[in-house]
Amino acid sequence: MKVTSLSTDQYLDLKRQFQLHKLPFKEDVDLSIHCSFKIGGVCPVVAEPESTEQILETLAIFQKLEIPWKILGGGTNVLISDHPNDLVVVRLSGAFKHFVELEEGVFKIGAATNTTPVFRQISLFGYTGAEFLSTIPGWTGGAVIQNAGCYGGELFDLLTEVEFLRDGEIFRLGPADIKHGYRTTEFLERKDSIILSIKMKLVKGTLSEIEESLKDKRDRRNSSQPKNKRSAGSMFKNPKIFDESQKEIKAWQLIDKSGLRGLYKGSAQISPEHCNFIVNTGGAKASDVAYLVEVVQEKVKKDSGVLLEREVEYFGSVP
Ligand SMILES: Cc1cc2nc3c(=O)[nH]c(=O)nc-3n(C[C@H](O)[C@H](O)[C@H](O)COP(=O)(O)OP(=O)(O)OC[C@H]3O[C@@H](n4cnc5c(N)ncnc54)[C@H](O)[C@@H]3O)c2cc1C
Repeated sequence: MKVTSLSTDQYLDLKRQFQLHKLPFKEDVDLSIHCSFKIGGVCPVVAEPESTEQILETLAIFQKLEIPWKILGGGTNVLISDHPNDLVVVRLSGAFKHFVELEEGVFKIGAATNTTPVFRQISLFGYTGAEFLSTIPGWTGGAVIQNAGCYGGELFDLLTEVEFLRDGEIFRLGPADIKHGYRTTEFLERKDSIILSIKMKLVKGTLSEIEESLKDKRDRRNSSQPKNKRSAGSMFKNPKIFDESQKEIKAWQLIDKSGLRGLYKGSAQISPEHCNFIVNTGGAKASDVAYLVEVVQEKVKKDSGVLLEREVEYFGSVP
């Protein structure tokens, strides 16, 4: 794929505008430290707006200078380009990193909060129902985008409101007014909204039972996932197909059937423990992972007639 890098002049113009408007940004950011794969190159400019006003000003500058941009959350569902110099990355900061209990059991949670500590803390306040969210890595905004879930629960079961920015306007909608389904939402389809915060109402439970539930979910997670944490979770969606006895056939079973478990390219490997995960064994490139993705798609299609759809998003140009 041809990569159209932004020119030095474009980045200089952008930095000048950010400085003029006193907008927070960082230069030459190694994106590999901001994602769970620990893969990705250096992005010349990363915008870090701390309020909705700053987001609007930042977007206006992008529009004026015709600069493509993309928002990054916790980086746990993306494979970041080895050369992310064809876009500017936005990472929410400041006010978006906080959560607050507005009234008994009603929480407002910023999009840039880290899900694991936030939902663990809320659970340990004695509220029940959100324990499962404490085992999903990433940030709250990213969890909204794909209606993250596990162990029979999903984020949209608990939400009472999503606050988001679209076409320069702020919307506050309840889950019934937002298209969503299993691991998908209209935000994922449209890609034109910035999630700012969510509201959620939880009920009180028994602390000892909540602690037990947190431990149970953490144990299940630890026993079912590769020990190597440098991955983006499941690489492919389950294809929703069934065997003769109507049992669901999972993506990992098709990959296993094609004999691809443990396959290496460079330092990227199809996990020997959970073959729907691709892991970075140290120093892997995005191009190595992309190569393995192609091998899986081609071989599984040839052997089982199924084209596995990628779950992890390519961020910037990945070959
Ligand atoms: C080990 C492991 C286990 C996992 N297990 C699960 C699981 O059990 N269940 C599950 O659902 N997922 C799971 N995931 C996937 C991932 O954790 C979730 O999808 C997570 O919610 C993504 O959040 P993030 O902040 O990391 O998003 P990112 O990876 O940063 O971004 C993902 C997408 O969301 C967009 N985005 C991020 N923030 C915003 C925002 N504020 N506004 C608009 N767009 C935004 C990005 O542009 C990108 O398109 C797992 C991942 C790993 C690494």
